[in-house]
Amino acid sequence: TERTLSIIKPDATRRNLTGKINAKFEDAGLRIVAQKRIQLTIAQAGEFYAVHKERPFFGELTEFMASEPVVVQVLEGEGAIAKNREVMGATNPADAAPGTIRAEFAESVGENSVHGSDAPETAAQEIAFFFSGLELV
Ligand code: ATP
Ligand code: MG
Repeated sequence: TERTLSIIKPDATRRNLTGKINAKFEDAGLRIVAQKRIQLTIAQAGEFYAVHKERPFFGELTEFMASEPVVVQVLEGEGAIAKNREVMGATNPADAAPGTIRAEFAESVGENSVHGSDAPETAAQEIAFFFSGLELV
């Protein structure tokens, strides 16, 4: 079975939406196999989102991700990467399908409640960024 890295972003942790978001993952058949609440530094957020460093929103994105605690988690299931992205909905909540996390909870294209890995290689990298082997069973 596949694993993917998910982050519940500061706009969602601030509004106590962790449980509602986790219920959507679990209802979709995704198992939460690791989870912790952390606060990133701006430098760590920049390292995590290095792929976006030339984008105009990079500063806004890294400041937002470091602004308050986040919940980082590993989700497991058949086709977990694609399934998670389906449950999240489109990046911009205005384009997100009804019932998706971003349609229901996201505040804007930047403050969009969740992150999910986009491919097997990035999922492996992103899981290793936050979790050690001992934390993953
Ligand atoms: P994520 O990588 O967070 O799961 P995604 O893959 O849907 O989201 P990306 O294109 O990888 O979207 O963008 C990463 C994040 O950068 C988005 O989730 C959002 O928080 C932020 N972002 C993307 N586009 C914009 C924008 N135009 N303005 C502000 N922030 C943006
Ligand atoms: Mg992405």
